[in-house]
Amino acid sequence: MSEEKHLNFIEEIIKEDLESGKYSSIVTRFPPEPNGYLHIGHAKSICLNFGLAQKFGGYTNLRFDDTNPVTEDVEYVDSIKEDIKWLGFQWQNELYASDYFNILYSFAVELIKKNLAYVDDLTPDEIAASKGTPTEPGKDSPNRNRSIEENLRLFEEMRDGKYGDGAKVLRAKIDMASMNMHMRDPIMYRIKKAAHHRTGDAWNIYPMYDFAHGQSDSIEKVTHSICTLEFIPHRELYDWFIDKLEIFPSHQYEFARLNLTYTVMSKRKLLQLVQDKYVESWDDPRMPTLSAMRRRGYTPEAIRDFCDRIGVAKRENLIDVGLLEFCVREHLNKVALRRMVVFDPLKVVITNYPDSMEVEMLTGEDNPEDAESDSREIPFGKELYIEQEDFMENPPKKYFRLFPGGMVRLKHAYIIKCEEVIKDENGNIKELHCTYIPESKSGSDTSGIHVKGTLHWVAVQNAVTAEIRLYDRLFKVENPGSEEGDFKDYINMDSLQIVKTVYAEPALKNAKFNERYQFLRKGYFTLDAKETYNRLVFNRTVTLKDTWAKESKKVQPIS
Ligand code: ATP
Ligand code: MG
Repeated sequence: MSEEKHLNFIEEIIKEDLESGKYSSIVTRFPPEPNGYLHIGHAKSICLNFGLAQKFGGYTNLRFDDTNPVTEDVEYVDSIKEDIKWLGFQWQNELYASDYFNILYSFAVELIKKNLAYVDDLTPDEIAASKGTPTEPGKDSPNRNRSIEENLRLFEEMRDGKYGDGAKVLRAKIDMASMNMHMRDPIMYRIKKAAHHRTGDAWNIYPMYDFAHGQSDSIEKVTHSICTLEFIPHRELYDWFIDKLEIFPSHQYEFARLNLTYTVMSKRKLLQLVQDKYVESWDDPRMPTLSAMRRRGYTPEAIRDFCDRIGVAKRENLIDVGLLEFCVREHLNKVALRRMVVFDPLKVVITNYPDSMEVEMLTGEDNPEDAESDSREIPFGKELYIEQEDFMENPPKKYFRLFPGGMVRLKHAYIIKCEEVIKDENGNIKELHCTYIPESKSGSDTSGIHVKGTLHWVAVQNAVTAEIRLYDRLFKVENPGSEEGDFKDYINMDSLQIVKTVYAEPALKNAKFNERYQFLRKGYFTLDAKETYNRLVFNRTVTLKDTWAKESKKVQPIS
C-alpha cells in the first residue's frame, strides 16, 4: 500500500492503538468455517487481515472456526489452506477452535461458578418464544435460578452424554430485558451427538459461535478481531464474556462484506449450485470461488489489486464485477504471452508464394508490454487460416479488414491482397486466393504500402488444434440474491460456450498451466488445469474489453 493513500478506518484505529502504547504489535486472524470453498468475499477478508499485520508489524493466525461438527470437512480445510497460499499470504499459526474445547469448557464452568450461566431444559423453540421482541422484554426461564451446584452437575452430565440432542442447553445469565436481543440469556452450549472431523466422538456438547469466537481470539491474544457488519449486535456479548472471564481483551471491529454483481456469495447457495449441477464443481470457472478463479486464469496479483481498490467500507454496497475483470485485464496485459489462434477458419491461399519444402519462420514478440520478454517463432506458409469474420464480400465503407481487391497486414508477416473468392457449387465461400507482397515483411518492410487492418492468422500446415471454453456471467440479473423467489430462477443458462476445435500457432503446443495467454484480438486464456490428458483445452479468463460496460456502474449502495 502506498504511503500517500488515506488510511482506512481500521488502519486509523490500529495506528492510534500502537501510538498510545495500548499494544506493541498487532495480531489478527482469518477465521473460516471449514464448510465450503473460499470465495472472493473471503479474499477481501484475507487481504484485510493479512495486509494489516504486514503493514503495521505483527502476524495473522489461520483459525478454523470448526465448532459445528455437522457441516465441516477436511476437504474444505485443505482447499482453504491452498487458496490462502495461492493468494500470496502465510499465516503464523494454523489453529482450530476445536483445539480449545477443553479451555472453553472450563470457561463455561467458571461462569456457572460465578452464577453467570445456567442449564436450561426449555427447547430451542421455547427459548426463542420467550425471548420477547425488540420492544418487549423476554420472560425468565423457570430454570434461571437453579443452584450453582445443580448447574455444575447438569452441565457435566450434558458433557457426558446423559441427555439427547436438544434436551438441555447452557445459557449465559445476563438480562432478559436487554435492548440487545443477543444479551437475553444467549445459548452458550448445545447438545449434539455428532462426530467432529477432528475431535471424533469426544464431545456430546459443542459451543455456540458467540461463546467460541471471542474466547478463541482472546486465547490467541488477537488484538484486532475483524468481522463483517452483521456481527455488530454480537459485539456487546463478545465484550461481556471477555470481561466476566477476565481474559485477554481482544476487540471486535466490523466492516462491510463484499457483494459482487451477477453472482451469489453465500456458501449455502454456492453449494446448491454444485449439488443441483448448475455448475460442474466448486471450481467450475464460472463460480466466484478462489479455486474457480485460479482455474479460469485470474491471478493472485489481480485479486489483491481488486481488494485494495474497493477499500474497506462501513456500509453495505454492491461492487461491479466489471471492476474485478478490469483488474484481471490490467495484470494479464503485463504478463500474458501473445499468441495467434483462429476460432472460425477461412482458408487463404497465397498464390504467388513459392511452393518450397522449407518452412519460413517469422518471429513475434511474446509480450510488447514487457521489454524483457522473449519472442517465439511463427511458421508462415502458402495456406493460411484467417477468421471468417475478418472477410466480407460486399463490405460497407471504412471496412479495414479483408474484401475482394482489398489489402491487410497479417500480424508479424506480410501484407496480402485478396484477388479472388473461390466458391463451392452451392455458392458458399470455400477459400480466398490472395497474393502477398514479399517486401512488406514485418520488421523489414520496404514496400511503402500502408494498410489500416491487421489480422491474426495461422499457417494451415503447422496449426495445432485445441478446444476453448468461453464463459459468461452465471446470473442474468445484477443482484440475484435480492430478487423475488428462488435465486436459481435467475441463472444464465448460456454461461458456457464450448468451441470444439480452434486452430492455434504451434508455440501453443507447449502451453503450460502456469502461463497466461492473450489470443490476439480474442481475449485472455489459460490452459484448463483439470484437463490432464493429451489435448489442449483453454479457458477464457476474460475478454479483451468490457463488453458490459455500458450497462453497469462501478459501485451501488444497497437499498
Ligand atoms: P458465507 O456467508 O459465504 O457462508 P461466512 O461468513 O459464513 O460466509 P466464514 O467461513 O465464516 O464464512 O468466513 C470467514 C471470514 O470471512 C469471516 O471473518 C467472514 O466475516 C469473512 N467473510 C465471509 N464472506 C465475506 C464477504 N463477502 N466479504 C468480506 N468478508 C467475508
Ligand atoms: Mg460464518
